[in-house]
Amino acid sequence: MAAAEIGVIGLGVMGANLALNIADNGYHVAVYNRTSARTAEFAANAGALADRVTACATLEEFVSAIRPPRPVIIMVKAGEPVDQQIEALKPLLQDRDIIIDAGNANFRDTMRRFTALEGTGLTFIGMGVSGGEEGARHGPSIMVGGAEAAWKRVEPVLTAISAKYEGEACAAWLGENGAGHFVKTIHNGIEYADMQMIAEVYGVMRDHLGMDAPTIAAVFSAWSTGPLDSYLIDITAEVLKVHDAATGKAIVDVIVDAAGQKGTGRWSAIESQMMGVPATAIEAAVAARSLSAMRAERARAESLLGLPARQDRRNSQEVIDDLEKALLAGKIAAYAQGFAVMAAASREFGWNLPMPTIARIWRAGCIIRSRFLGEIATAFGADPDVSNLALTPAFSAMIKDTDASLRRIVAEAALNGLPVPALSSALGYFDTYRRARGTANLIQAQRDFFGAHGFERFDAEGEQHGPWGGTS
Ligand code: NDP
Repeated sequence: MAAAEIGVIGLGVMGANLALNIADNGYHVAVYNRTSARTAEFAANAGALADRVTACATLEEFVSAIRPPRPVIIMVKAGEPVDQQIEALKPLLQDRDIIIDAGNANFRDTMRRFTALEGTGLTFIGMGVSGGEEGARHGPSIMVGGAEAAWKRVEPVLTAISAKYEGEACAAWLGENGAGHFVKTIHNGIEYADMQMIAEVYGVMRDHLGMDAPTIAAVFSAWSTGPLDSYLIDITAEVLKVHDAATGKAIVDVIVDAAGQKGTGRWSAIESQMMGVPATAIEAAVAARSLSAMRAERARAESLLGLPARQDRRNSQEVIDDLEKALLAGKIAAYAQGFAVMAAASREFGWNLPMPTIARIWRAGCIIRSRFLGEIATAFGADPDVSNLALTPAFSAMIKDTDASLRRIVAEAALNGLPVPALSSALGYFDTYRRARGTANLIQAQRDFFGAHGFERFDAEGEQHGPWGGTS
C-alpha cells in the first residue's frame, strides 16, 4: 500500500523546504522533480526525515506512492510550467485527488485552471505561500483559495506546517477559486511598498544625513522595538551590519542598485487599476524598481541634469525621529490601499474575503509579518466592513500622530532632490483622501468642454452641460 499521505512536485528552494516541513510534522511525503538529480540530492540530504520521504524518479512512481485520494502540491516556477505539470498529472490521477498549486500564480491563471478541471473529478486549489525559504521549512503563512470542502480535506496538514502566531495557525481558506492567489499577490504588493519605503528612509539617512551602513543599522535595530517592529525592519538592520570579506566594506555598498521583480507587485498595481481602487504606494514601489533597473540611463541623466544643491538640514536626530514616524504613516497608506483593493476584488469576484482573518494569518510566517498587522487584525475584527483602514479609530489616531513627520520628510527630501516616491505618494493619497472638497470639478468641466461628457451640479438633478461658447 502506498505510504505517502501527500506529494510535492518541484524541489527548488520552496518545494524542498515545504516537503521537509511536511515530513517534520509527521506526514509521509512523496517528492518528484523534473530534473531527477535534484530529487536524488534532496533524498540524500533528508537526514533524520528520510524515513518519511519517498523520492520518486518518475511522475508515475510519484503518483502511485501517494495514498488516494491524493493531495499533490505543485511548487514549480509559475506560469507555463504549472500548466505542463497539470497536463502531465491529469491522466495519472483519480477522482477526488486534489492538485494544489502553491507557487506565485497570477490569480487569473488560477481561475482558468480551476474552471478547466471542473467536471474532471479532480479538484484544484490555488494556494499562496509566503515566508521565503525559512518560512517554507519552519512555517509559512498559507492563503488558500478553492472549494471549501477541498480545503477541509487538506486543512490538517496545511495548518500543521503553517506558522503559528501565539498558537494560532497562519493558514486559512479565504474563498473560492483565485481568492488565495489574489490575496498572496496583494501581500506581495504591500511587501514591495514596505521594502521601497524602508529603502527610501535608508536613502535619506545615507545621502542626506551622511550616515554609514552600520550607523543606519543601529537606527533600524532601535526601531525594531517600537511600532515598526517587523521582520522587514529586523532583516534590514541585519543586512546593513554585514561586511563584505573581499573589500571590507558594508555588503550593501557593493550591491548594485538595480532591483529585480517577478511580477506580483506589478499584478497588484494592474489589478488595483482595473478595479479603480488607488494603490499609489504599491504603484510607486513597482515603478521605483523599474527605474532602479535603468542604471545606465540614470547615470546619463545625472551627468546631464545634475543634482539639486543641498539645502540646510535639520539636526540628524530630529530627522531620524521624523523618519520613524514617516515610515509608519507610509505603511498605513500601503496597507489601507492593499486591503481596499482586496475588498474591491472580493466584491467583484464574489469571494467574501475575510479581512480580519487575512490580517491574522499575516502576523507570522510571511515576509510582511509585524506588530502592525496585529493592530490591523484588531481594527478589522472590530469593524470587518470598514471601507478604509484610515477610518478606524486606531489608525486615524496613528495618522494624526505621524502626519506632520511624513510631511516634513517628504518636503525635506523634495528640497534636496532625494527620491521618496512611495512616501510622497502616501502623503498625496492621504491629502487627497481626507479633503472633502476636491478639484475634480475642473476636470469635469474640461471633459465636458472637449468631449461633451456632462457633469453633475450641486444644485440640480441629472446630467448637465456647460455654456462653453458653443464648443460643447
Ligand atoms: P526555484 O527556482 O528554486 O525552483 C524552481 C522549480 O521549478 C524547480 O523544481 C524546477 O525544476 C521547477 N521547474 C521549472 N520549470 C519547470 C517546468 N517547465 N516543468 C517542471 N518543473 C519546472 O523556485 P522557488 O522554489 O523559489 O519557487 C517556486 C514557486 O514558489 C514559484 O512560483 C515562486 O514564485 C514561488 N515562491 C517563491 C518564494 C521564494 O522566496 N523563493 C516565496 C513564495 C513563493 P528543475 O529542477 O527541473 O529545474
